[in-house]
Amino acid sequence: VYILAIETSCDETSAAVVKDGWEVLSNIISSQIETHRAFGGVVPEVASRKHVEVITLIVEEALAQAEITPDKLDAVAVTQGPGLVGALLVGVVAAKALALAWNKPLIGTHHIAGHIYAARLVKELEYPALALVASGGHTELVSLESEGRFKIIGRTRDDAVGEAYDKVARALGFPYPGGPHVDKLAHEAAEAAALPRVWLEPDSYDFSLSGLKSAVLNLVNQSRMKGQEPDAAAIARGFQESVVEVLVEKAVRAVRATGARQLLLCGGVAANRGLREALTARCGKEGIELIIPPAVFCTDNAAMIGAAAYTKWLHDGGTPLDMVADPGFSLEHWSVQTS
Ligand code: ATP
Ligand code: MG
Ligand code: FE
Repeated sequence: VYILAIETSCDETSAAVVKDGWEVLSNIISSQIETHRAFGGVVPEVASRKHVEVITLIVEEALAQAEITPDKLDAVAVTQGPGLVGALLVGVVAAKALALAWNKPLIGTHHIAGHIYAARLVKELEYPALALVASGGHTELVSLESEGRFKIIGRTRDDAVGEAYDKVARALGFPYPGGPHVDKLAHEAAEAAALPRVWLEPDSYDFSLSGLKSAVLNLVNQSRMKGQEPDAAAIARGFQESVVEVLVEKAVRAVRATGARQLLLCGGVAANRGLREALTARCGKEGIELIIPPAVFCTDNAAMIGAAAYTKWLHDGGTPLDMVADPGFSLEHWSVQTS
């Protein structure tokens, strides 16, 4: 089964050809980061316009690199949501036009299901599995009871991890997106600033990051008021240690509680060295199988959308052509219906 997948939910325009849900024949990604950096974050209108400019070329490139012609495709998949509505629309309209022109089924796909199924590009999944999704807009513990069936057992009550990283980075003077800068600095630091761990209720799998973020901003402001530059390295390390400790502990607890056979680390923050190292060490000690996709499949890309679309396609088939982009698309709702 050959699926052409399209992803335009935020600031990456991407198209990929994926065979049988795991073999990546091409994965073309055009990032707009340079365009948005001057604004300190993603500007929605600018993102949509950029997607329109490049989408046709990116799709052509994905087909060319995969050495496949449209008649060989089985379906066209596209990120239906969640994401920026104007950005999603560009991908959805393009996918509908291609599906119609080539007379192929359309598969509306959930963006976070894509981040999770990035793990399938690495290895066959065994169910039940547990995904820790840490991205720019989401921080969730998702239980996969069987293929394509998602149950969110914990989520952030305020900021997402990536968002908190970007805000901390900004306070320390780094350009957008700041996560990688904070990660690097944390590794160079000789010591860690004392910062709180936010656990919430003892049995909760939810997260809260706004208190930690505020504590960091207070530290930065306090030293600036005293006319001193804050110890950015110590702050970065203290922040990272707090985030990592809580994420690792809750993920491992959720694996135990759900009887998961694998733990999947997904989303852009899966590129974080501190998180990868701590989770790898802990899972090794506990005998938990951990899958962390390579960085290119962790941040936004269309190959992961092709992987998720394949499971949906196998169980439920295509999506009606009158489907619409949905910025608030629900993951649990998108779960496969037919076993
Ligand atoms: P969502 O998928 O929730 O809609 P998104 O697609 O914008 O959000 P991703 O592309 O998955 O998010 O991830 C981007 C985020 O990952 C940014 O916030 C970025 O700072 C963060 N990030 C990337 N690398 C690292 C790193 N090494 N350490 C910490 N954060 C990182
Ligand atoms: Mg992005
Ligand atoms: Fe994403």
